[in-house]
Amino acid sequence: RAKEDGGNGYRFFTSEMNTLASDRLEMENGLRRALARGEFEVYYQPKLNLADGRIIGAEALLRWRHPQRGLVSPGEFIPILEETGLIEQVGSWVLQAVCQQIRLWQTTSALPPLVIAVNLSGRQLQRSNLATTIADILEETGVEPRFLELEVTESMLMHDPQCAVDVLMQIRNKGILHIDVDDFGTGYSSLSYLKQFPIDCLKLDKSFVDGLPLDEDDIAISQAVIAMAHSLRLTVIAEGVEREEQLAFLRDNGCDIIQGYIISPPVPAPAFAQLVLAHSQQHSTTLP
Ligand code: C2E
Ligand code: MG
Ligand code: MG
Ligand code: MG
Repeated sequence: RAKEDGGNGYRFFTSEMNTLASDRLEMENGLRRALARGEFEVYYQPKLNLADGRIIGAEALLRWRHPQRGLVSPGEFIPILEETGLIEQVGSWVLQAVCQQIRLWQTTSALPPLVIAVNLSGRQLQRSNLATTIADILEETGVEPRFLELEVTESMLMHDPQCAVDVLMQIRNKGILHIDVDDFGTGYSSLSYLKQFPIDCLKLDKSFVDGLPLDEDDIAISQAVIAMAHSLRLTVIAEGVEREEQLAFLRDNGCDIIQGYIISPPVPAPAFAQLVLAHSQQHSTTLP
């Protein structure tokens, strides 16, 4: 019941708000049970190296298969996982699932060696034992650290830069070579910090790729990010590439790797494996 303020306070607690609140509560309860019920899945989206046209790996993206609602997208449930703290458990589950998958591909398939990227959340990065957790998972699953890549967003790094530097250093000391700054350009980046983070790749945010090759601002920003990254000896990935013209622009302007619907949307593990095999058979003759 809403607070009564001068007679008509009830008006603020509408039935719509009621529905929203119970929706959210229902989501939250569902998420608490989802791990135990095996409702989470990992999808894989290929990363394509522009220099040789090869698929060099993938980004692992979490999906929730809700018994009634079907596939729920991370935009809807990741924020709830973060607010409730469930993200720590689920985040570890993703790391474990991905490492098991990497190992399975390495031991039972004809796939070339692939590097698979896992997104970390801010809360995971704030845990002092993150590096140990990751190292333990790698050891348990028998995966060499160089096959695991991690994605952290610019805002996560800037939240507590010194802490981020420390944690990423520990992670790097465990042998993990690939750490990407996700959604680059959308946070408030401090170039002086950028230099201090032990990162090796910037992911140019989709919002800048969208306007290519025509929007003057997006052209300027993309070119600036590519130039800056290269002068800091960092790799550049463009995310959300959907059209030929965008790909051509990015290739012409020295972008290293692309990811997007133009290659493939995120797909389940078996479909990703098929895609890589088909691609590696045909790529030797034709570039993308
Ligand atoms: P992100 O890490 O920036 O991932 C890229 C998002 O862009 C993915 O959305 C992907 O499906 C989408 N995408 C890729 N190419 C295209 C394209 O060409 N066109 C369009 N329209 N979209 C494209 P998704 O899978 O819905 O994930 C959204 C966000 O949820 C991710 O953004 C990431 O921040 C978060 N997320 C996903 N999985 C995890 C996870 O396991 N852990 C954590 N902490 N966050 C995750
Ligand atoms: Mg990402
Ligand atoms: Mg991204
Ligand atoms: Mg993004």
